[in-house]
Amino acid sequence: MDCPACGAATVAFAVPADLREFLPGGDPGAALCAECLRLHPVADPPAEPPAFAAVSDAFPDGEAAVPMALLVGLLDSLARYRAEITALLERVERAGSDPFLVVDRLADDPGIDAATDLRRRRHQLEQLL
Ligand SMILES: [Zn+2]
Repeated sequence: MDCPACGAATVAFAVPADLREFLPGGDPGAALCAECLRLHPVADPPAEPPAFAAVSDAFPDGEAAVPMALLVGLLDSLARYRAEITALLERVERAGSDPFLVVDRLADDPGIDAATDLRRRRHQLEQLL
């Protein structure tokens, strides 16, 4: 699907049951826009592992990938999803990735025009911990 907000391509992915509580709406999947980084619910996600490299090569692989995508998607509503974001930061770190470094690299990626101010959000993220 294309992003309903900006029309760019998205990467759809299944959200594992243990991460679904972090996805507003409770759908089994989500799609991350490759350009504005907005997250959209998906009722029928693909079964194959997500190719977040299509969004940015800043994205981690493996276990950290889906929690990082959810985290990025929630950043725009940081105050509202503070508890979810804190839990997701821990999940990404436990999977061996540095979520702050990923946000920095996304902010530096010329292919991304994020809907939220990533640098400001990164600063706010640090205050959460
Ligand atoms: Zn978009």
